[in-house]
Amino acid sequence: MAKRDFYEVLGVQRNASPDEIKKAYRQLALKFHPDRNPGNKEAEEKFKEAAEAYEVLSDAEKRQRYDMHGHEGLRGTNYHDFTDVNDVFSAFSDIFSGGFGGTIFDEMFGATQRGRRRSGGQHGQPGSDLRVRLPLTLEEIATGVEKKLKVKRQKKCDTCNGSGARSSAGKATCPQCNGSGELRQVSRSMFGQFVNITACPTCDGEGRIVKDPCTTCRGEGRVAGESTIKVTVPAGVSEGNYIPLQGQGNAGRRGGPAGDLIVVIEEQPHSHFRRNGDDIIYDLLISYPSAVLGADVEIPTLTGKAKLVIEPGTPPGRMLRMRERGIPHLNSYGRGDQLVRINIWVPSKLNSREKELLKELAASEHISPNEDERRNADRSFFDKVKDAFS
Ligand SMILES: [Zn+2]
Ligand SMILES: [Zn+2]
Repeated sequence: MAKRDFYEVLGVQRNASPDEIKKAYRQLALKFHPDRNPGNKEAEEKFKEAAEAYEVLSDAEKRQRYDMHGHEGLRGTNYHDFTDVNDVFSAFSDIFSGGFGGTIFDEMFGATQRGRRRSGGQHGQPGSDLRVRLPLTLEEIATGVEKKLKVKRQKKCDTCNGSGARSSAGKATCPQCNGSGELRQVSRSMFGQFVNITACPTCDGEGRIVKDPCTTCRGEGRVAGESTIKVTVPAGVSEGNYIPLQGQGNAGRRGGPAGDLIVVIEEQPHSHFRRNGDDIIYDLLISYPSAVLGADVEIPTLTGKAKLVIEPGTPPGRMLRMRERGIPHLNSYGRGDQLVRINIWVPSKLNSREKELLKELAASEHISPNEDERRNADRSFFDKVKDAFS
């Protein structure tokens, strides 16, 4: 059959711009697309004819040869005589996956074109993501820490370097899907025509099958294993934060890309600190004389011991603020404070001498609250309760 003139095929002028050629081809490809014309041989021929014309006219050098010498001029050049619709898809895969600036193809087969690019061809299926919990102490959170994690994950098979085949010739194009990795089924309903695309069961969507499987991994290209992974935790993280480590998850099947490792931060309860945002709360029990007379005490913080001055006359329940002794802010400069809540120790075991001294003290002038002081204390208590409930 004599070939038609390529310009005629695309319906463009001989001086058409590359853009006009693209546009014209796109329209024809849509019109004669096999998904829209299932079983229509004539449409299929037109689809292939347009692809052939486009392949030549979209290439400046081939177009020039064609302009000067016609079809004869293309002899011996590397160009397709499209005999199979799948060749069209593979030759212009960018166009069919949206590189054409067009969304109609996307609408027609949505994610499947992306799926084709990902799963078809030489790469296997991507590996899955893994989640691991990383328990941290408040001290580690306060300083930031580097941790080594032992992770059970699938690793690339070393014997076959992930290919799954024992020899380099051990892989072949899948006979069921011809390497596309998917099967198309067209069904009709009263709403129109649907194209149902499923992953090819023979090759699991990979487009290739292993003829001579690697014995170590039985053709999977990956094996179960355990790895030690280093993770750097910045200061200031909190429960539920996660650190994604790209490509550190399960290895892909037969050379597919690895998944990610998601490290989820878990905050361990602390024996004497509590966290409130980036502030740290610490309960300090002091003696009655210290509360009355004041004292210098040494108390723990997340970054070591620190001195705290208890002013004379410090009542129980008072919060003392130690600036910048809390947890560093994760996303800004500075850090939280340590809040020290004062509590007064009431001893239950006393010797007779201590009892005598306390009795003597109890009878002295300033030790017990008078009526006014008691009333003030009551009022401040009620104010606090009211605050708590408002
Ligand atoms: Zn292997
Ligand atoms: Zn297949």
